[in-house]
Amino acid sequence: MPLPVVFPDKHVLHVPDGEIWVGIRIVGTELPSRGEVIAAALREGGYPFFSSEPISVTDLTSVHTPGLVEFLRTAWDRWQASSYPTEPGQDRVVPYAFPLTDMTSGRPPRRPVSVGALTGMYAMDTMTLIGPGTWEAVEDAAAAALTAATMVAAGAEAVYAAVRPPGHHAGTSFYGGACYLNNAALAAKRLVELDFGPVVVIDLDAHHGNGTQQIFYRTDTVRYGSLHIDPAAGYFPHWLGFADETGDGEGQSANLNLPLDPGTADEAWLASVRRLVSFGDGAKSMVVSLGVDAWKHDPESPLQVTVDGYAQAGALVAQLGVPTVIVQEGGYDLSTLGELVAGFLDGFERGR
Ligand SMILES: [Zn+2]
Repeated sequence: MPLPVVFPDKHVLHVPDGEIWVGIRIVGTELPSRGEVIAAALREGGYPFFSSEPISVTDLTSVHTPGLVEFLRTAWDRWQASSYPTEPGQDRVVPYAFPLTDMTSGRPPRRPVSVGALTGMYAMDTMTLIGPGTWEAVEDAAAAALTAATMVAAGAEAVYAAVRPPGHHAGTSFYGGACYLNNAALAAKRLVELDFGPVVVIDLDAHHGNGTQQIFYRTDTVRYGSLHIDPAAGYFPHWLGFADETGDGEGQSANLNLPLDPGTADEAWLASVRRLVSFGDGAKSMVVSLGVDAWKHDPESPLQVTVDGYAQAGALVAQLGVPTVIVQEGGYDLSTLGELVAGFLDGFERGR
């Protein structure tokens, strides 16, 4: 029996229309067609589809600060009300200055008047643009992840939330890396609230989920384990994802990073998946951050994982044998994206 799929229809409203990459606008890879390709593959595979249930702001502030939620909700309107849209190339919300901690001698930065500067208080990069329908899509993605968690808590063995935009780079009070709200973290937090903690988050995306790590760094109610391209080899998110980040305070030893060399292929990648599954021992439920950008022809990573590798990973994580929410993260090769996701979900079903 194929897994239930929660699909947020409003994802198509989020059209970043590029990213500002080292000073110039490029086409970008986090496109509306990603959601459509995944949905088409799963409809063809006979998966039952569900819509996301409505949510309120308090559902989001279980993980994120009210300031970030309010900023994302209003950023587009604020931008429209400013003079930026009449200037060439300023048709999306983008920061240009960032209040680094040392600039203010550690004091909280004063709230700026300029919306461009305000954006720099919440954005960690210039690649994550906000357009007219971004908030509606971001909210629907978060709602889909929360709906999947609720379904699992109500008795479904596993549910897949086919969301975009992705979420694992977004933290408590910041967004970036094509992510706005942290869908996987919201699902994990809801599972804890519904008495399904401790939760283990297993992050299979090719990049380190710095946002999920930050959100749960000081707690052991949600463990975070990730395998990803080594930031020391020059990859995003650059400052985080190293093996010595193991958690802090009550979260000590509840964070596990497994950085991988460029070119890592199935065998070594799957050995790391096994380590993440062991790390999840004793968890009462699991959230899988399913990025499929470790695929060997993905434009965003130098890892060399195959479709069969992802299917085997599905079978391995299923062996943990706990209620599971699977949340979509990255994966940018449109020609294979549907096959990679379906392969993982098939493997998961076989592994149960
Ligand atoms: Zn990624």
